[in-house]
Amino acid sequence: MPGFDAFHARSLADRDGFWGEQAALIDWNAKPTQVCDYSRPPFAKWFVGGTTNLCHNAVDRWLPTQADKPALIFISTETDTEETYTFRQLHAEVSRTAAMLKALGVGKGDRVLIYMPMIPEAAFAMLACARIGAIHSVVFGGFASHSLASRIDDARPRVIVSADAGSRAGKVVPYKGLLDEAIALSKNKPARVLMFDRKLAAMPMSAGRDVDWATLALQHVNAQVPVEWLESSEPSYILYTSGTTGTPKGVQRDTGGYAVALAASMKHIYDGHPGETYFSTSDIGWVVGHSYIVYGPLIAGMATIMYEGTPVRPDAGILWKIVQDYKVAVMFSAPTAIRVLKKQDPAYLAKYDLSSLKTLWLAGEPLDEPTSRWIADSLGRPVVDNYWQTETGWPILTYPMGIEDRPRKFGSPGMPMYGYNVKLLHENTGEEVGVNEKGVVAIVPPLPPGCMTTVWGDDARFVKTYFDSVPGKQVYSTFDWGIKDEDGCFFILGRTDDVINVAGHRLGTREIEESISSHAGIAEVAVVGVADQLKGQVPIGFAVVKDARDIATPEARRKLEGEVMKTVDGQLGAIARPYRVHFVTLLPKTRSGKVLRRSIQAICEGRDPGDLTTIEDPGALQQVKDAVNPV
Ligand code: ATP
Ligand code: MG
Repeated sequence: MPGFDAFHARSLADRDGFWGEQAALIDWNAKPTQVCDYSRPPFAKWFVGGTTNLCHNAVDRWLPTQADKPALIFISTETDTEETYTFRQLHAEVSRTAAMLKALGVGKGDRVLIYMPMIPEAAFAMLACARIGAIHSVVFGGFASHSLASRIDDARPRVIVSADAGSRAGKVVPYKGLLDEAIALSKNKPARVLMFDRKLAAMPMSAGRDVDWATLALQHVNAQVPVEWLESSEPSYILYTSGTTGTPKGVQRDTGGYAVALAASMKHIYDGHPGETYFSTSDIGWVVGHSYIVYGPLIAGMATIMYEGTPVRPDAGILWKIVQDYKVAVMFSAPTAIRVLKKQDPAYLAKYDLSSLKTLWLAGEPLDEPTSRWIADSLGRPVVDNYWQTETGWPILTYPMGIEDRPRKFGSPGMPMYGYNVKLLHENTGEEVGVNEKGVVAIVPPLPPGCMTTVWGDDARFVKTYFDSVPGKQVYSTFDWGIKDEDGCFFILGRTDDVINVAGHRLGTREIEESISSHAGIAEVAVVGVADQLKGQVPIGFAVVKDARDIATPEARRKLEGEVMKTVDGQLGAIARPYRVHFVTLLPKTRSGKVLRRSIQAICEGRDPGDLTTIEDPGALQQVKDAVNPV
């Protein structure tokens, strides 16, 4: 095995040779005739002429060798359920669900919107769509009606699959009312709605439109539905981005490129192998859930865990108990979950046998050094940051643990992965910046296999949104800032719209956040730039403390605020010192755990907080309002 540098260099210099070899990691019905068709930049078509199927590769492919091994493990601490489906059982469930969808009139190319909690039926529905060539669009369960309605209007599904309710932290979240309201609001009504009844909440059925899952399933008990072989570029799914920076974009993905990209990432990056168990704490509503709960692990012949629950119920040891009980080899979570655990008793970590665990992967937002050190020290296992986007489907930057265990740097999500030609470009000139200089993280097209192929229904928006922002060059912009050090390690400095200008100095809010969170009393912080007549902008921080006693009195608050400012002074200089640091008990975040800085900033500037469809807890925004305008 050559070192990773040579591996990466070859992926760019001999693109077709490299990916042609990777294509052999999956099953094809007809082999591709061309590796990459890049005749219409920036649109890339991968594995042209090849026909394959995601469901075949995730399920059927494993029947001859491991039919009776676990494929899908469902754990709900909300309903106290644990169920294991072998590949054979998963195959039967998916075939039956495929037959049910067909009975509802779903065919190749039709969209199916999946608005489901984290239950096995959600995965059956996704895989069933893939099986028959229907395009799924999973919308995070429990989204409010208008966010759901806008996605219904954009995706125009023939069928919606849903359930009576989800459950979060012991509280039932009824879905049917939200769904009915969304359908009423939308201009493109689905013909049929397939409802799975968990018996958690009322589920009034609309005659002629709504169909009960269990009833329909009885009519398709031993259904056999052959897989629909799709040309590699045919769409597999649509998934909307998290909406952190604005209106969500409908990311469209292909079939063959995605299957190859996932298979390759399981091998070279995550180091996951058939028979092992993969545990991602994400949700099927996000890209991590698509790539690394459902498709990636199964395509690699691994068992995958679907977890409905939080990291702290019944207690803060639950994730580690799952690792122990199911001998998890590869685990994937988000910094936000680890920060939650950091506030709990560390003894929970020592309670369980974690010897099966090879690596903990974290992604979704910046992994600050204190959190990273804390979890790495507590686990005694590699904790690896990986940086990517809904758009890319798999990591842009990380450490390829399946190829070599490179020295890792705290705070750095690593280096560009194979297939990604990553450049750091000057925002005004479009020229490459030097070592340790800040630039926009950009990817020279073609984007590698697995990445978005277009914006659903809007090729022009794809080009305009992603390829038109760097002057003089048609490159893909991630809209994130980064720097690269002398060892080639990248650091992400935050979103390009999170940079603030203080008296002519450009500061990344991320750097100020890092500095503030290095204070021992701070659990989490968001910094935004707020318009200021004198200085242009000033940084304002909103911090969550580890111990509420630190802010029990106005004097204590002032003392802590002063200490935090001193910390920033010492690390970044007085220019970066926040104008104010407010203390709150939680930060406004998207449901995927990303801080909604644009909304905090708007409130600080007395503007409307904007599109809040994906906010987790509106109460957090109220705290920001109260902090900024004390009564
Ligand atoms: P929208 O594009 O709709 O505003 P979003 O960008 O939050 O939403 P995602 O695709 O879920 O939607 O998030 C990708 C972004 O998350 C990246 O562009 C980056 O800003 C951030 N991110 C993801 N992983 C990391 C990481 N390991 N380190 C730093 N930032 C990360
Ligand atoms: Mg984005």
